[in-house]
Amino acid sequence: MFGVNTNMDAPKQTGGGRTCSVRSCEINSRRNPGYSFFSFPKDETRVREWIENCDRRDLLHKDLTTIWRSHYVCDLNFG
Ligand SMILES: [Zn+2]
Repeated sequence: MFGVNTNMDAPKQTGGGRTCSVRSCEINSRRNPGYSFFSFPKDETRVREWIENCDRRDLLHKDLTTIWRSHYVCDLNFG
């Protein structure tokens, strides 16, 4: 019953688990508990830079509070 979830269109944020916002990255805190997740910066200009780096222009339509509260980037995308 609990096989691999192949539905890639499922909501990314479920049950408090954190999912990386980078489009090409599939790290999430439940499957990949070893990764750290970083909240978006509090500076709006830098938020836009992160969104560009994430290739997630869809996030430009969300308000900043939502982005700060429910979007993260994992440490795989840093360094
Ligand atoms: Zn990531």
